[in-house]
Amino acid sequence: FLSITNAVKTFGTNTVVKGFDLAVEKGEFVSFLGPSGCGKTTVLRMIAGFERPTSGKITIDGRDVTDLAPNKRRIGMVFQAYALFPNMNVAGNIAFGLKIAGLGKAETEARVQEMLGLIGLSHLAERYPYEMSGGQQQRVALARALAPKPQVLLLDEPLSALDAKIRVSLREEIRDIQRRLGITTVFVTHDQEEAMSISDRIVVMNGGRADQIGTPSEIYNRPSTRFVAGFVGTLN
Ligand code: ATP
Repeated sequence: FLSITNAVKTFGTNTVVKGFDLAVEKGEFVSFLGPSGCGKTTVLRMIAGFERPTSGKITIDGRDVTDLAPNKRRIGMVFQAYALFPNMNVAGNIAFGLKIAGLGKAETEARVQEMLGLIGLSHLAERYPYEMSGGQQQRVALARALAPKPQVLLLDEPLSALDAKIRVSLREEIRDIQRRLGITTVFVTHDQEEAMSISDRIVVMNGGRADQIGTPSEIYNRPSTRFVAGFVGTLN
């Protein structure tokens, strides 16, 4: 459903993605796992359209999106934290992309309510970001990303700014919502426990390449390289 074929990304003289291949099934939840600097975010940003691959191809639902602007790709994205519009309340934040997409007032209103229900925050529609916890803000960011009904959801370490307890409950909530919607999802993390617990498949990245792609149990029980064995076995 989402495919990345031989993607390369060079910044100046520094090649940070070195021939990356991945095919994600419709409805699948795939995590990019790897240490800082291995190129996870860069691949995600190429899928989103914020970076253009130096070479390679990206398709979504059979459509070549490699040269398409981000707003034409039907993707939703959630960032690490603090990405909500501070001068808009929750409903305004969720409605923002819908106005741009050209939805009418009644339809926007209904969609905002649907999204608030999805994240269990119907009672906080009037709140402003500074009046909410980090976990609540990230739920709103998820609702905002999902509101235009994207085909692919991209999550860039959405839990890393939260404390440990909230992190575990929110990741389960994200996974639950993702399953209910059946939305194809790519999740970036450097936390192997997080990736193991949440993913259908994990892409272990090392130096701009996918070292291994497999289910959590394949990665854990049959690591294909020393790097993968070390990363899933010894860190955290
Ligand atoms: P982290 O978990 O720390 O975000 P990452 O695996 O997501 O790491 P990337 O953010 O993809 O890694 O970065 C990979 C490499 O590319 C890093 O060395 C980074 O400095 C470099 N890089 C990323 N974006 C740019 C840019 N716009 N210009 C130059 N170099 C960049």
